[in-house]
Amino acid sequence: MRPSGRRPRKIKIIMTIADNPYQTIAKPPLTRRRSIAALLAPLDQIAIQSPNLVANYEARFEAGNETYELPRYLFVGPKGGDTPIRIGIFAGIHGDEPEGTHALVQFIKLLEAKPELAAGYYLSLYPVCNPTGFEDGTRFSRSGKDLNREFWKNSDQPEVRLLQAELISRSFQGIVSLHTDDTSSGFYGFAHGATLTKHLIEPALQAVGKLLPRDERPVIDGFHARNGIIRDSYDGILSAPPKVRPRPFEIILETPVAPPEYQKQAAFVAALQTILTEYRKFIAYAPNL
Ligand SMILES: [Zn+2]
Repeated sequence: MRPSGRRPRKIKIIMTIADNPYQTIAKPPLTRRRSIAALLAPLDQIAIQSPNLVANYEARFEAGNETYELPRYLFVGPKGGDTPIRIGIFAGIHGDEPEGTHALVQFIKLLEAKPELAAGYYLSLYPVCNPTGFEDGTRFSRSGKDLNREFWKNSDQPEVRLLQAELISRSFQGIVSLHTDDTSSGFYGFAHGATLTKHLIEPALQAVGKLLPRDERPVIDGFHARNGIIRDSYDGILSAPPKVRPRPFEIILETPVAPPEYQKQAAFVAALQTILTEYRKFIAYAPNL
């Protein structure tokens, strides 16, 4: 854990996007940086006292002449009886998609208030996977790379290498990534990996359906889609190590950009909650899988 108060960032921003929930994502790049420190301060505060939440800032990397940290949180749910279920939740790999980042912060606060939602789980949470992109409000990292096309290709991007190390060492049973699609007017998702993934994503999209419309188009983002679910994928996206068997479930959730911030956050939070509930049921019925 990092000594409290130690922040490598030098620029202080008084107002962040979190102060103005109706602000949409900024394009072209922000002229002033978003503050990761301000974003995460509430979580770090919680982690000091919480019996469940641990903040871990040991994963550092260099960008330009600055040192950055890949923010990592662990949330250890109350005992579910068996071996804890290891799930990784990732947001903000595209720096201009703050919806997922803010939603994950909200989700962690919700877990702190209601730890039983994470009963039986050991959750690894990565709210800002692309710190320089988040600061700058750009899809790419400051080195000019789309980090979500760099996985498992011997990438020299330090963020990708750190995230790959997490994906290897944690051997997740499930991986969830949060994204925003500014070309869609509905919520949808990608389902990869384990066969059971479809039994998790469908209830998640149903839960979201109470808050946001589903993208029902037959082709989304160039991919064949059915009921808002895509089975295909881009090369090089954040995923389990290629040779890992059995494959974990892998879900990518995509929110449309237009709805109000609170609605997008609530949609992501509802989806995440549903995935945990449904997977816990699955594990209970199939303990040997
Ligand atoms: Zn994205």
